[in-house]
Amino acid sequence: MTEEKSTVEMKKEALFYKRQNAAKALSAEAQAAADAFCEGYKAFLDAGKTEREAAAFLVSRAKERGFSEFDPKRRYESGDRVYLCNRGKAVVLAVLGEQPLEAGLRLTAAHIDSPRLDLKPNPLYEADELALFKTHYYGGIKKYQWTSLPLALHGVVVRRDGEAVPVCIGERDDEPRFVVTDLLPHLANEQMKRTLADGVRGEELNVLVGSRPFADDEASELVKLNILDLLFQKYGVTEADFLSAELEVVPAFRACDIGLDRSMIGAYGHDDRVCAYPAAEALFAIEGTPVHTAVAVLTDKEEIGSDGNTGLNSAYLRHFLTDLCLARGENVRIALSNTKSLSADVTAAFDPTFPDAYERANAAFLNRGVALMKYSGARGKSGTSDASAEYMAWVRRTLDDAGVYWQCAELGKVDAGGGGTVAMFLAAQDIDVVDVGVPVLSMHAPFEVVSKLDVYMTYQACAAFYARF
Ligand code: MN
Ligand code: MN
Repeated sequence: MTEEKSTVEMKKEALFYKRQNAAKALSAEAQAAADAFCEGYKAFLDAGKTEREAAAFLVSRAKERGFSEFDPKRRYESGDRVYLCNRGKAVVLAVLGEQPLEAGLRLTAAHIDSPRLDLKPNPLYEADELALFKTHYYGGIKKYQWTSLPLALHGVVVRRDGEAVPVCIGERDDEPRFVVTDLLPHLANEQMKRTLADGVRGEELNVLVGSRPFADDEASELVKLNILDLLFQKYGVTEADFLSAELEVVPAFRACDIGLDRSMIGAYGHDDRVCAYPAAEALFAIEGTPVHTAVAVLTDKEEIGSDGNTGLNSAYLRHFLTDLCLARGENVRIALSNTKSLSADVTAAFDPTFPDAYERANAAFLNRGVALMKYSGARGKSGTSDASAEYMAWVRRTLDDAGVYWQCAELGKVDAGGGGTVAMFLAAQDIDVVDVGVPVLSMHAPFEVVSKLDVYMTYQACAAFYARF
């Protein structure tokens, strides 16, 4: 009897795929290293709530680490470190390797834009003695989640003369916040009959910005006038300047630890700064000259489909790589064909409160490490790049050999919904690509949750990937 059981056990040992939980398996030292890494990540989250702020943070980090601004007219040597900032909203970082570029790059791509409320071109109005901003939401949000929260205003106003005025109100303790109001339950009988999708509508996401009139006078729109007067005093802008502005309303709270064990981080905008930060930091940590040229692309516009000239569906990455190849007398087409890449973006973490949306065997779980997604998309793998078995094997080997905890996942149940990443835009350049990233709870909510160990494993995965030859 005993022998038979041990045969079963041996067979199981040999044949079953064992999923590992990093929180159970990692040493205390490794967990402490993960916690320390996440302190830097939290600082990045608080410093970069918009794509422009995140890009500025990454450029200043790059300069600190000895990167110089890319000059397409210059020649570059192995070991050189360059950065390119595309219109202040997207950043490309590169460390030139020993091998020719034609031998292929090791390229990671993550995005630094997040769902939010953008001000409309004519945002400010007065209604019933209150001043409000009209907004147009950016990215996929559940609109009801954005009411009754402390909000901050970030962005830039470019005056008619071209002068850019940076705006940030609501982050410092001594600054005011803003809010989208919601109806009290006492009077919400009609609203409560709406579907959840329709519970708060796009045109109801109006941001409260003031209530005191400019002066005790009989003129109209005095509350609005007072707000414009305050904005003029602080920033020197007038109402017409909203027409040439990018002002983004984001949650005003900071990143914090979640749980009595402090094992998780709650914050606005984990998607996708939680992959952008590890991808960039792992590149900054490369010592000397890597074998293959390592590139990290921290891009904009992913949340609205990657369209626009700062998104990965634009030619800016291709232009950068072409210029880099020309500067070394190499052929970009050959370099792209031999390039291996990771589309570093978040995936959904299994939520025990909503198990029906997931298929357990193919879901990502918190603390099981960086999640590998062979494909994303919707309706039968549409709108995605389905990574090849050959490339999946190469990535598996790379992560296993480096001792990185990782898991394989789909976004959720088949036909439960779906989503896309930048993977298909890399694949369109004839690059090998697979999605990897951190599992997130409450993804796209104003306050999202990730596991510290998973963040650290994503950092280690990027480091192992850059170093692999
Ligand atoms: Mn994302
Ligand atoms: Mn997203």
